[in-house]
Amino acid sequence: MWFKRLKALLLQRCPVCLEGKVFHSLLGMNKECPVCGVKFDRETGYFLNSMFIAYTIGFLILIPSAVWLYFLNASILVFTIAIVVECLILWPIIFRYSRVLWMHADQIMDPRQPDVHEAPDRQPG
Ligand SMILES: [Zn+2]
Repeated sequence: MWFKRLKALLLQRCPVCLEGKVFHSLLGMNKECPVCGVKFDRETGYFLNSMFIAYTIGFLILIPSAVWLYFLNASILVFTIAIVVECLILWPIIFRYSRVLWMHADQIMDPRQPDVHEAPDRQPG
């Protein structure tokens, strides 16, 4: 099961069925899973937590570059341009993986079934 989840995470697939694609374009995200129909945006502000994951991933990726530039004695201008360009290039990757990571973590902490949102007799709370 963990291998399947890891594979789905790396391929940016649905956290519930592990098959449906989460994104339909570089930054365009599907509202629902094309395979199981689960709604990706569970509630208002659901993806705010993925921002913290994005900050962490960005930090972990940029630190080696910053250290490397420091030891090259790069000027402030070169340092700034290099880091900004790296951020811009990596931003779509970080954006996508932070959202997918958050959805999979949330699915592990608070599991839901593919048809949960369609059940007519479901009570809130
Ligand atoms: Zn799905």
